[in-house]
Amino acid sequence: MKPVIALVGRPNVGKSTLFNRLTRTRDALVADFPGLTRDRKYGDGRLGDYPYTVVDTGGIGESEDGIDAPMTSQSLLAAGEADVILFMVDGRAGLTAADEQIASELRKLPKPTYLVVNKTDGVDADAAMAEFYALGLTDVMPIAAAHGRGVRSMIETVMEGFPDLQPLDDDQPQEDDEGRIRIAVLGRPNVGKSTLVNRMLGEDRVVVFDHAGTTRDAIEVPFERDGKPYTLIDTAGVRRRGKVFEMVEKFSVIKALQAMEAAQVVVLVIDAREGITDQDLHLLGYILDSGRALMIAVNKWDGLEADHKERVRAEMGRRLEFAPWVKIKFISALHGTGVGDLWAMVEKAWDSAFIRVSSNEMTRIMEAICAGHPPPRNGRFRAKLRYAHLGGNNPPTIVLHGNRTDSLPASYKRYLENRFREMLKLEGTPIRLEFKSGD
Ligand code: GDP
Ligand code: GDP
Repeated sequence: MKPVIALVGRPNVGKSTLFNRLTRTRDALVADFPGLTRDRKYGDGRLGDYPYTVVDTGGIGESEDGIDAPMTSQSLLAAGEADVILFMVDGRAGLTAADEQIASELRKLPKPTYLVVNKTDGVDADAAMAEFYALGLTDVMPIAAAHGRGVRSMIETVMEGFPDLQPLDDDQPQEDDEGRIRIAVLGRPNVGKSTLVNRMLGEDRVVVFDHAGTTRDAIEVPFERDGKPYTLIDTAGVRRRGKVFEMVEKFSVIKALQAMEAAQVVVLVIDAREGITDQDLHLLGYILDSGRALMIAVNKWDGLEADHKERVRAEMGRRLEFAPWVKIKFISALHGTGVGDLWAMVEKAWDSAFIRVSSNEMTRIMEAICAGHPPPRNGRFRAKLRYAHLGGNNPPTIVLHGNRTDSLPASYKRYLENRFREMLKLEGTPIRLEFKSGD
């Protein structure tokens, strides 16, 4: 399990600057998604082979009488989910009343807390740090987030607090030995996740086994459907026949992200009565970044007026224009309508996410695609694609070898992506193209 590191502090101390430095963006996937609001508060990073998650808890706002209460409680809630807190202060502005109040709030959280004194560039770090010792925190680290100074040794110190971490060679999910399909059902509170999960597990054809064990935040529920093995990574609380698992908890983005990472296929549940909300779009952004197979279940479709349905359909189409591969299913978890089709979509998406294609075949497909529409000339250059192979799964990663591939315009890459998707008959999974140029 990756440690979760929370950045806490008043506005302007440099939290987002540090956040950007500590996280890497997975830019390779579908580049950017126009029209998608992206919450950049959660991000992944790594120190060598050791991954971590960073949360920017947002500014703890200052008001006349100190700190702004509602914002503070939001930030503290997020900090409460973390394993370790980096309390950031501004080494140039010096100690403020708000810093003192934040420190006293943080003292109530039983979490390892480091005091990070930022903006120590161009000032004497020891002098800048001196007055902050009054906050009573013993682990004090000077950095300059904007320039990167001290950031590596800071994160090394933080990670030393987790001696039991397993190194990762690759954060791509691996295909399970048994061909087990790992599904996560995600969504905001009240959209109908538990109803859907219970409906899925309640079918006669489904045999649910005892939980193999629980991860920190999500429960893994192994089951078989028609003799095929699955694991459900549950964040909502599963009500099993006979036994009741109640997990009364607030919506936790961390938990959703962890479930997503542990899954191969994600079912994002949206409430048709509310339409697609900002929070839905934030979750969607993270899922798209992860490269997991994805389908959207628009729930509570029962009893809606025809014009309401039309409106929701149109909105979904418009909002998801940029990711046409995402399948949408209108369902009623309560009545079970559409849930059978959802199973079929999960199967198909999994098969698509874990295709097997030989290098010969992939190269032939590439040649057919290029024959239909060769790479265009770009200035003096024309890219040439020579051969292709499947470099990985979930998402399928197609590695294209050639020359001058840097000169391929984005429109041509999109063309390639769409044609590969068609020719490989992929449904419900993103794909990733990687270009390797011989020159
Ligand atoms: P946040 O509100 O806490 O997220 O703070 P930001 O990351 O937006 O930074 C606030 C301001 O401080 C910006 O103008 C940054 O460029 C500046 N800043 C951040 N880190 C440093 C630093 O290490 N040194 C200096 N001199 N300025 C910094
Ligand atoms: P969760 O918080 O996402 O797990 O949502 P729940 O499964 O607890 O459902 C929240 C509420 O929505 C409950 O009152 C459910 O009965 C109701 N609900 C769930 N699915 C449907 C549905 O398909 N149609 C209707 N009309 N209500 C539903």
